Amino acid sequence: AAKQTGEPVRRWTPALDERAGEFVRLGAEIRTALDLGQFRVVYQPIVELPAGRVAAVEALVRWEHPVRGLVSPAAFIPVAERNGLIVELGEWILRTACHRLAAWRSDLGPAAPDRISVNVSARQLARPHFAATVAAALADSGLPASCLAVEVTETAVFEGGQAVVALHELRALGVRIALDDFGTGHSSLGLLQTVPVDILKVDKSFVDNVTEAGRPTVIADALYQVSAGLGLVAVAEGVETAEQAEALHRLGYRYLQGYHFGRPVAEPDFTPATVVVLA
Ligand code: C2E
Ligand code: CA
Ligand code: CA
Ligand code: CA
Repeated sequence: AAKQTGEPVRRWTPALDERAGEFVRLGAEIRTALDLGQFRVVYQPIVELPAGRVAAVEALVRWEHPVRGLVSPAAFIPVAERNGLIVELGEWILRTACHRLAAWRSDLGPAAPDRISVNVSARQLARPHFAATVAAALADSGLPASCLAVEVTETAVFEGGQAVVALHELRALGVRIALDDFGTGHSSLGLLQTVPVDILKVDKSFVDNVTEAGRPTVIADALYQVSAGLGLVAVAEGVETAEQAEALHRLGYRYLQGYHFGRPVAEPDFTPATVVVLA
């Protein structure tokens, strides 16, 4: 028999089979979780320098599973995207978020954040009537369109098509468009020529080492310059230390988000008050 060389051929193993089973099981549980109301929306502040005012919040979904405990969106969002339940889940998140900011606006007046940012998956954006769904959520909550931003990833829009049509429709409504995880996709800068965008969310990977001279800092600097040159708002994501905040501030960044300022929290724990920002 010929001697085997190179990588072993991947076979359909019980382990892979189990993963497929797990996928189906998790998918079915998402359906149940929607019916039982096991999802929550939490809110993370986006602060404005230098004062540290909470200028905006990002809405992030959580699943309080009765057995598994808190399930990370990184585990269930991809499943919901593949089995299509993201459409229903996403609309629920959108409506919850719009109502939340509308309530803060009536409770807090000018102390309320200016805007709420909601993550939207490729699958939602590609649906023919996505902008109408957003318009309905705004109308139901009474939230002005200018108080809403949708966060989309580069991969959701780089193929153009209906997703980009939807972004133009959202823009026409007055909704802001944020490009999430900016700088990590295949054609980050190219997209800025073709896709309507208001906000660049500069990925955490560029923030992590921004206190040292080196590539991430050069890139964080360049991305800020691009955003400023195009008249866009840059938000730096994943800021964990005062030193990172200082370094980003020196590069020109005015909007920062990360554990240094506040973790995502449920509504009763959220305080829109100014936070201490710089060291
Ligand atoms: P994302 O949109 O890039 O969200 C930022 C993630 O980074 C959140 O994780 C947030 O909790 C986390 N984060 C914020 N600040 C820091 C920091 O300083 N350090 C570190 N290490 N992490 C930080 P989360 O909530 O687990 O969400 C993970 C991803 O799941 C999100 O990444 C987004 O892609 C997706 N996701 C979350 N909520 C939703 C949603 O409502 N709809 C959709 N379609 N996707 C969502
Ligand atoms: Ca996001
Ligand atoms: Ca992000
Ligand atoms: Ca991300």
